[in-house]
Amino acid sequence: MVAAKELSMAGHHVTIAESGDALGGLASSFKVNGEALEKAYHHIFRTDSDILQLINDLGIKDLLEWRESSVAIYRDGRVWPFMTPLDLLRFKPCSLLGRVRLGIAALYIKHSKKWENFTQSSAMEWMGRFCGNSALKTVWRPLLKGKFADYADDISMAWLWARLHVRSNSREPGGNKERLGYMKGGFSKLVEVLDECLVEFGVEIKLSTRVSNILEVESGKIQVNIGAHTDEFDQVLFTGANQTFEKLLSKRAGDEEYRQSLQKIGYLGAMCLIFTTKQKLGDHYWVNINEDDAPFLVFIRHTKLIPPERYNGEEVYYIGAYCHQDKGLFEEDDEAVKNRWFEYLKLLYPDFNQATLTSEHLFRFRNAQHIVKRGYEDLILDHKTHIPEVFISNFTQIYPEDRGMNFAVREGKKIAHLMSES
Ligand SMILES: Cc1cc2nc3c(=O)[nH]c(=O)nc-3n(C[C@H](O)[C@H](O)[C@H](O)COP(=O)(O)OP(=O)(O)OC[C@H]3O[C@@H](n4cnc5c(N)ncnc54)[C@H](O)[C@@H]3O)c2cc1C
Repeated sequence: MVAAKELSMAGHHVTIAESGDALGGLASSFKVNGEALEKAYHHIFRTDSDILQLINDLGIKDLLEWRESSVAIYRDGRVWPFMTPLDLLRFKPCSLLGRVRLGIAALYIKHSKKWENFTQSSAMEWMGRFCGNSALKTVWRPLLKGKFADYADDISMAWLWARLHVRSNSREPGGNKERLGYMKGGFSKLVEVLDECLVEFGVEIKLSTRVSNILEVESGKIQVNIGAHTDEFDQVLFTGANQTFEKLLSKRAGDEEYRQSLQKIGYLGAMCLIFTTKQKLGDHYWVNINEDDAPFLVFIRHTKLIPPERYNGEEVYYIGAYCHQDKGLFEEDDEAVKNRWFEYLKLLYPDFNQATLTSEHLFRFRNAQHIVKRGYEDLILDHKTHIPEVFISNFTQIYPEDRGMNFAVREGKKIAHLMSES
């Protein structure tokens, strides 16, 4: 959407084909008690300068709110606050020495400047060496396992460095408090206003319209199968997953190497369960589940960040997990997943009563997270593909930062510039 905005502002005629029935992709929303809510939990950081600039440019700065966050860890059958140095010292599941080493590692990462110095190690190796076994077992291994499943052992330290570095630098002076950004009306407001802006600039938006083939034709034009039609364009930008792009390309002699490079980066799926109730569960916005056998990675009390009044006075919760795309959890039926997760939630909050739920929604995202193994920097593809005037821009090209709306905005501007120049 950002690329379309920039290109149309530069005088190009742009068409967007979106296979979903609404714009927004992973950041899309649905209605909870009349209020828009992201299907997957979303917030932004103070350091997210590109999306902040966009919000400003679109004239909706007043809708952005900064609210105090609170983070905890569930380990050894207890929820431990995990925001301040004192919280860290009180985190008993980890040895005292491990806690001290965790603190030193956090400071080291905050003040080190170059991600390139972290590319040689896996996150597990580096954290094991720097923080010791106890911290690895109680903090890092569960987090990496929860996020990357069987790939956890080989995830690059450069990626983890970037996550921790950005996060520590987004804190308020003094270091203990963190405010997260959210929009009145949810991020769907941003999508909505961007949509209006695109329409104003003459961008043609086709929803529920899947692109099924991209082919270079002799005239130098690019032929694209959009829904039931075939259209020709001067340039094409694909913003879905690498794996999807590979399937769209017509097979041609000599493109085998490029196809293989598209398949080198693997993806994981994600699942988010959202439920509403009057019950108040815990005192934290974000609880990482660090038990070894946990069935999900994170429990979020969205209404600890955003007032429940917005949702008709009810509390809104997310349970989130990452998983393989085509097996196990991702393939299980909704009821089995919900029952297992709700059973587990009773361990955290014994008062939790499923009978009080007023709504529940389970969403699955197939291409939710790319697998950032050691050496990942060598796998990243150029925005220019092997076909002249066909470009690709997706979150696999964002590195070492993790994917996020801010970087999608940054990349959208960058790719529009590249396309205009070509
Ligand atoms: C669980 C989870 C939590 C997250 N939390 C945050 C957060 O707190 N903060 C944050 O900033 N970001 C967060 N993100 C990331 C954020 O949602 C994405 O980085 C952001 O939306 C940018 O995504 P994108 O546009 O690159 O890709 P996508 O959102 O995946 O967009 C790609 C679009 O292409 C469409 N498409 C794909 N193939 C085709 C085809 N063949 N034809 C037509 N259309 C097609 C898809 O339908 C989709 O709309 C989170 C993501 C997940 C999964």
